[in-house]
Formats: sequence, structure tokens, C-alpha cells
Amino acid sequence: MPFTLFHLGPLFLIGFLTLSLLYLPALVLGGTIVDIEPLISRLQCPTCPSHGFFHSFLGASIGGIFAALIVFALKKRVDKVMSLLKLEQPASFKKIMLSGLVGAWSHVFLDAPLDPRMQPFYPLPDNPFYGLYGVFECYAACAVLIVLSAIFYYYTFKK
Ligand SMILES: [Zn+2]
Repeated sequence: MPFTLFHLGPLFLIGFLTLSLLYLPALVLGGTIVDIEPLISRLQCPTCPSHGFFHSFLGASIGGIFAALIVFALKKRVDKVMSLLKLEQPASFKKIMLSGLVGAWSHVFLDAPLDPRMQPFYPLPDNPFYGLYGVFECYAACAVLIVLSAIFYYYTFKK
């Protein structure tokens, strides 16, 4: 998916519904950090495939672990922001790590149906998810989830 912001809809909704299981900041960072790859790829070669190794479950796992380590290192500051947002969450290193991984893997699940060149199970060459849904359905669903997440946040946490 070329626009990382669309990933935020599913990430926030999953995060809000699993606050006792997953640490929202690590989930969100893990689910978006993977798109550094197409950003760098497009800057270097605008016509080259933008979904490479880091858009496989193996590569995304590295991204998810990296995201979790960043969040863990900044946890005190992140917790202050979460407190301002009324989203305080206790989180162990294990919970942060799991959240980074789930976020990164969800990114691969969301992108894989849209790009036949993606290799989600790298080093295996196939993409069994390709065509599961189309670009329009994906963007529309993500946009709806962004709105639902905002409504859910407002009525559950902000009030
Ligand atoms: Zn992506």
C-alpha cells in the first residue's frame, strides 16, 4: 500500500480492541516502520518494485523487533504521551515485542493482496494472498476503519 497512513485505521482499531494484550505505540510503529523500505526504494529508483525483503514476514519481523526496541527505549516518554491521550497501558518488554511483531505482520497481510511481486513468505517466491481484495476495497476499508477508530477512541477513552 503506497500510503502508510491508511495502515493506521486497522492498527488503531486492533490496538484499541486489544489494549490488555498489545501495547498500542509498538503496534502502530511496527505496522508503519516497514514502509521505510518503499520510501527509500522510490527515492533511489522510482520505477523499481517497492515491496522487497521487508515486506515479507521474515523481513517485517526484523522491522517489528526494531520498532519494539525503539518504543522500549523511549517508553517513559511514550507513556507520558499515552497518559495525555488517556490511553495508559502497563507494558512488559515481552508485550512490547509482541506488539511490534503483530503490527509488522499485519502490514504484510494488508499489502500482500495488492502487489503480485511481493513475496510474503520469502525466500519462497509465491504470493498466495495476491488478489484476495483489490486496491479500492483496501483503501475504502482502511478509510472506514480510520473513521471507526476515531469514533471508538472518542466514545471510549476521550470522554
Ligand atoms: Zn507497505
